[in-house]
Amino acid sequence: MPQIELTELTLPELEDAFAQLGLERYRARQVFQWVYRRGACDFDLMTSLPAAHRRLLAARFRVSTPSIARRDVSGDGTEKFLLELQDGRRVESVFIPRTPHQTLCLSTQVGCAMGCTFCLTATMGLVRNLTAGEIVGQARVLARETDLLESRFNIVFMGMGEPLHNYDATMAAVRILADGQGLAVHPRRITVSTVGLVPAIERLAAEEVMPRLAVSLHAPTDEQRQALVPVNRKYPIAEIVGACRRFPPARRDRITFEYVLLAGVNDSPDDARRLAALVRDLRVKVNLIPLNPAEGIPYERPSDERIDAFGRALAGRGVTVMVRRSRGRDIRAACGQLAVARE
Ligand code: SAH
Repeated sequence: MPQIELTELTLPELEDAFAQLGLERYRARQVFQWVYRRGACDFDLMTSLPAAHRRLLAARFRVSTPSIARRDVSGDGTEKFLLELQDGRRVESVFIPRTPHQTLCLSTQVGCAMGCTFCLTATMGLVRNLTAGEIVGQARVLARETDLLESRFNIVFMGMGEPLHNYDATMAAVRILADGQGLAVHPRRITVSTVGLVPAIERLAAEEVMPRLAVSLHAPTDEQRQALVPVNRKYPIAEIVGACRRFPPARRDRITFEYVLLAGVNDSPDDARRLAALVRDLRVKVNLIPLNPAEGIPYERPSDERIDAFGRALAGRGVTVMVRRSRGRDIRAACGQLAVARE
């Protein structure tokens, strides 16, 4: 009989699986706590279970966990993990300390299909989707390695991949991460970042367990955006803004617009003015991300003065704006710098 991958199951699903084996539901809760709160991958370690249960579970379940192929530590404390999955594919995940919170940046796909022209991951193309267990597995490994299992941390789906292009696995991962019996990461501490897949944003608007949403806008006009984000041809700016407007008003404060600043491309005073006009009545926050350069990326980062001026132009028009200070650039762990070399 094939083994069940325990890490793919939400707690209610695990309880059902236990019931089918004739085990009590509270035993599923115990196992869930062992795996997520205490970082145990081996049933032998789960000493609160009777030995006979442990043997039965070891025969029927697997707890697959990514292994660490490489770990780089930046001068600013950021750590980049290269993690290897069961099939040998690799993804990168990043621990970013004191943002002021502790933050884990996770991947949702091996590579990415979106082709954004300033992003290094795009150069890989899409290799495959991650499963929910592989997405959460990154959090289990990083939380264990950085001693966060007992403390609060934030999660951003801003690693490799487009989370809403892998919708079901991403949302199952959100539910597993948020479960109070496990890592218990409150959905408000989880951010899903999307290139702007409109039907998926509309689906998200109806989710019960709802993470924060970051939308990668990057330009105030379709003409400019098309050159940066090819999928804009399918989902132009007006449709993205419309989908955000249809978000339940009580949840609208969970939306941020991300805007990568590229010298001479989208960083002029006129761009700031148009962007302000676009977002003002939506009341979303704007997160400015000065480009993190990488070899083969044909853009430059604007000067600090230019970045400040852009931010001030937005703030002066009543837009809540933050500049994302990049972390871990010396180990290529910053936004848009994640890509796994082909061996
Ligand atoms: N696919 C998701 C997650 C991407 S990574 C999305 O598109 O939102 C998170 C953010 O980093 C996105 O806003 C992305 O556009 C941005 N980014 C990508 N490459 C970058 C680079 N080289 N410098 C700065 N930000 C970059």
